[in-house]
Amino acid sequence: HQDPPGSFARMDPCPDHGEDRWKGAGRLDGKVALITGGDSGIGRAVAIAYSREGADLGLSWLEETEDARSTQELVRETGRECLSLCGDISDPEHCRGIVARMVEKFGRIDILVNNAGHQALFDQIEDIPDDEWRRTFAINIDAMFHLAKAAVPHMREGGAIINTASINSDRPNPKLLAYATTKGAIQNFTSGLAQMLAGRGIRVNAVAPGPVWTPLIPSSMSPDHVANFGKNSPIGRPAQPVELASAYVMLAEPMSSYVSGATIAVTGGAPFI
Ligand code: NAD
Repeated sequence: HQDPPGSFARMDPCPDHGEDRWKGAGRLDGKVALITGGDSGIGRAVAIAYSREGADLGLSWLEETEDARSTQELVRETGRECLSLCGDISDPEHCRGIVARMVEKFGRIDILVNNAGHQALFDQIEDIPDDEWRRTFAINIDAMFHLAKAAVPHMREGGAIINTASINSDRPNPKLLAYATTKGAIQNFTSGLAQMLAGRGIRVNAVAPGPVWTPLIPSSMSPDHVANFGKNSPIGRPAQPVELASAYVMLAEPMSSYVSGATIAVTGGAPFI
């Protein structure tokens, strides 16, 4: 399935991560990247693109799934290193441990992609359990802080941090209240950290995807939501994961040396301020 499908009905439940579509051009030669949520969806597509562009990787994921194993195989086929970092990033100790293992293996980190995310839909505020609210924050925003705090001392001038925001950062879906609140926070985290780290030569940016057909969607949304997912996008369909990868490569590559504090919206034409 190399061609992005024209309608949701034609989409394969196993999304296109770019196994065939991404051809490398050495844009990240010799770089070391840590990508959270690297087993699945957007993170997996970014991992494949980064490895084909010449980066060695550490990939973090919640569970050692078949997807995680096949992502590692695809990365290793490119000749790049792939360190598997399994565990729960809602635990700050685990975040510090991930960075320590990266530094132990590679000696440094050049690119940190804070991509893992969690969402759940609720109709009313009373329906949202307190621990669900807290867990959404722990995964979606706290982990970005803990990973960046641990990684920055091991990043050199030219380093890049890329955070996955969302169209919900700008236009919150009320049924995704906790998720959208964290995605809004990511905007300010990105902009503030970009200013904080500018003097150290480290750039910080975000990517705000619109609807992307990944395992997150059927696992967290009702069949009704899934059936209509992405249909309101101006392009009329959700993105395939590989269609997000170019934004992550662009933000990571050395030629983007003046791009910092930005959010790149990859929304299929939907407005994003
Ligand atoms: P996905 O479900 O395919 O991948 C997310 C991955 O995050 C999981 O597979 C898992 O490995 C990791 N993860 C989740 N909880 C974790 C935890 N506690 N500890 C460690 N890892 C954990 O989803 P995706 O759609 O590729 O989402 C990636 C990012 O893109 C998320 O931040 C999501 O909010 C964002 N996003 C997705 C869409 C979309 O339509 N799919 C739209 C906008 C933003």
